[in-house]
Amino acid sequence: MAKQRVFSGLRPTAESPHLGNWLGALNQWVNLQDEYDCFFSIVDWHALTTSYDDTTALRENTLGAAINFLSAGLDPKKSPIFVQSHVPEHVELHILLSMITPISWLERCPTYKDQMIQLGKEGKDLSTYGFLGYPVLMASDILIYKASVVPVGEDQAPHLELAREIARRFNYLYGKVFPEPQIRLSEVPMLPGIDGRKMSKSYGNFITMSAETEEIKEKVRLMITDPQRIRKTDPGNPDICVVYAFQKIFNSEETSKIEQSCRSGEIGCVECKRILIEKMDQRLTPIREKRKELANNPGLVEDILADGAARAREVARQTLEEVKEKMGLLMPKE
Ligand code: SF4
Repeated sequence: MAKQRVFSGLRPTAESPHLGNWLGALNQWVNLQDEYDCFFSIVDWHALTTSYDDTTALRENTLGAAINFLSAGLDPKKSPIFVQSHVPEHVELHILLSMITPISWLERCPTYKDQMIQLGKEGKDLSTYGFLGYPVLMASDILIYKASVVPVGEDQAPHLELAREIARRFNYLYGKVFPEPQIRLSEVPMLPGIDGRKMSKSYGNFITMSAETEEIKEKVRLMITDPQRIRKTDPGNPDICVVYAFQKIFNSEETSKIEQSCRSGEIGCVECKRILIEKMDQRLTPIREKRKELANNPGLVEDILADGAARAREVARQTLEEVKEKMGLLMPKE
């Protein structure tokens, strides 16, 4: 049986993602690669919808994002990894779908007004055609590959619903071409920041996926544990402990043993943190090393992106031909 197809994209950023984002996106994608026929893209046009006024770091961020994708473990042999703007078929489909998308659908998208207000406060003028049409571009990204599964966070759910509506409308008007893509919500548990709040770069409570050993040690030492535990032998409550939330991710095979030992006061927090540091370092060292290796070899990364775009274009071209045929456009003479 053919594998279901997945499309997923991230905006370009060269910064190493923090572990919360790594867990919710790249690490999850790595796990999808065997089960699904995946297409992964660095969506640089999406970045332009909100950051058109400053593109100085766009190239560097795009290449840096590719390095992040690859160092997190995505295998370009299994799935094409490509830059959105290297596959111009996305924009051609975007313009065709924009013909059938009512403006009211875009204006009622909850993120449209929210982001306009939020980013407006930072001085950004988002009253642009491109920003309004962003969900149509996202629908094109997904539909050009006829993806039936899209792993996104809850915040992107309205956009995916819009993609489904656009697919439905196209199929109704011209005949079926597109599957209606289904959302695949992230199944990964939330990873708190080291202070117990949501992990965020703006709170400064994060650890990145490529953190050095010393940084891992330092940040784990600072992690909040059960504040009621004074002595090592006091029974602890792992449910309110940041270290335990990390143990569940990085040391899943020993989680139940640690939970029991914590509740019975047999393990101290210092020892528990020592074990976590070791496990995190084991898991993150290959990512860190791969990231350094790729940063020193941008030519290799560009080759991988070129190959990914060529493979993506093969599929995208076929879909586009079918779309144009159904829409009644005169095809050029071969
Ligand atoms: S023993 Fe581990 S799980 Fe229990 S409170 Fe200390 S750090 Fe947290």
